[in-house]
Amino acid sequence: MRTTKYLLATEKETPAGVEIISHQLMLRAGMIRQLAAGIYSWLPTGLRVLEKVENIVREEMNAAGALEVLMPSVQPAEIWQESERWDHFGPELLRFKDRHNRDFCLGPTHEEVITTLINNEIQSYRQLPANFYQIQWKFRDEIRPRFGVMRCREFLMKDAYSFDINLVGMEEAYQIMYDAYSKIFTRLDLDFVAVAADSGAIGGSVSTEFHVVADSGEDGIGVNESIGFASNVELITLPVPEDVSPAAPQLEMSQVATPGVHTIRELTELLGVPASQTLKTLLVRGIDGPVALLLRGDHELNALKAEKCEQVLAPLQMESAETIRSKFNVEPGSLGPVNLECPIIADLAAVTLADFVCGANVEGHHLTGVNWDRDLPAPEAADLRKATDGDPCPGSPGETITVKRGIEVGHVFQLGTKYSEAFNATCVDAAGSSVMMWMGCYGIGVSRIVAAAIEQNHDDDGIIWPEPIAPFSVCIVPINYNRSKNVARTSDRLHDELTAQGFTVLLDDRDDRPGTKFADMDLLGIPHRLVVSDRNLANGVVEYKNRRRGDTTLLEMETVVSQLSDIVTYR
Ligand code: ATP
Ligand code: MG
Repeated sequence: MRTTKYLLATEKETPAGVEIISHQLMLRAGMIRQLAAGIYSWLPTGLRVLEKVENIVREEMNAAGALEVLMPSVQPAEIWQESERWDHFGPELLRFKDRHNRDFCLGPTHEEVITTLINNEIQSYRQLPANFYQIQWKFRDEIRPRFGVMRCREFLMKDAYSFDINLVGMEEAYQIMYDAYSKIFTRLDLDFVAVAADSGAIGGSVSTEFHVVADSGEDGIGVNESIGFASNVELITLPVPEDVSPAAPQLEMSQVATPGVHTIRELTELLGVPASQTLKTLLVRGIDGPVALLLRGDHELNALKAEKCEQVLAPLQMESAETIRSKFNVEPGSLGPVNLECPIIADLAAVTLADFVCGANVEGHHLTGVNWDRDLPAPEAADLRKATDGDPCPGSPGETITVKRGIEVGHVFQLGTKYSEAFNATCVDAAGSSVMMWMGCYGIGVSRIVAAAIEQNHDDDGIIWPEPIAPFSVCIVPINYNRSKNVARTSDRLHDELTAQGFTVLLDDRDDRPGTKFADMDLLGIPHRLVVSDRNLANGVVEYKNRRRGDTTLLEMETVVSQLSDIVTYR
């Protein structure tokens, strides 16, 4: 490929308002363009990477014995009503009507379609085990699409579904997929971890998420490497301390003015107290009106844990600022538990606080020196917070966890018979009786992987692709392509020979300054670079540079192609 015949579409400036590095670099490297919120077009460079990821996923799925199919993205409401997810999936499901006024949705996942499809095709245990997968665009009307293709509305997913005659078969199928996923992320050259996970809206019991470790990750994962523990922090329960009685009060309760203070950080700065001495009040929707959840200022609410409280509505929803104003006559930032007229549940770490600071239910004011039992009744206590660094490791006395950030790139589930029961998907077993099929489902965020790989592999100059998914393996940068016949001839010859040998080559034949070309090739992250100049040609050599290591060497012109064959693992 030559840049003059290609759509490089690179940009020098970092686009305004774009938060994370992978999103910035995907725009700057000319990989994607936004069409609408969370909806992207893929330009040639982006598509080349996406297809490489897709192929690795496809090869490993085929190797694991799964069969590729392709199912429609437009799905009729009936099958979603049959599984009862038409109501349960909520606003992430994009619904619309056809010209006959029939309800449809854009597929966010395909359990309903595959179960009805396979139920008609498989009748006997002899046809099992079976596993079908597709690589298909999904649509989810995410409440907050952000970070480019990392959390978007239309994205490419590999989804696979296994069918077995019994529980043991399902567990075997799950293990095969688990192993295939480990191979896929290893082949993609990503630093990943497999973590115990919640099953969410998909259903089922056992599930594992695969995370790419990166600071920008939206998920917290609790790990203890020495004992091989890894779990999404969502799932980590914290033990009830033996003694939950707070220390004796030292201070009197008093109301202090805190004008303009809306966050815990502003509060701790103004009053000079640590966040662990403050208490935040979150108002969520409950069965009989609002419920206040109390957490230490330095702790975060775990939505899954909150949903397990009887009085709290699932899925968890915060009360709006409007409701808080009209019901309690106060701004959300000034809410506090003293004299608050609604049910109160406090986190286990909040009930042991003494002399704490909290909102005063008076605009622009907080209370200091507040104590349970003395200033307000001791609350109902529950485990409500997300585990953090140094918290105890579940099931391993004396061990603690460290929390890392992760980007979820894959998820494997044991579904059991949830969907087969909904669709009466049975087959005949060896004894001739009709039994429910046992299912598993297995997703990989193919397009999210592209962004996740960049989060893990970049420097100040741009992307540094893991070689298996680079858009091109080799770039050729000629100096004075348009003025030196020798440079042009050599560059063209190299381009043709390398291409013939199966390398994916980008020749930068633009009439531009070398600096511009070097910057673009670094931004694109092509792993191997050759520079062709008159000066080096006079000595019979070309310059080679490795994008990741940054080192340069001179390669003999005569043997460049064979030397590159040794250096380059992925062509
Ligand atoms: P998340 O918790 O990130 O919303 P999920 O649990 O909803 O993910 P699954 O239903 O398990 O995701 O989907 C399988 C895979 O699809 C995920 O592991 C992820 O890699 C990818 N994925 C899910 N939602 C999105 C999205 N909005 N944009 C891009 N990729 C996504
Ligand atoms: Mg989701």
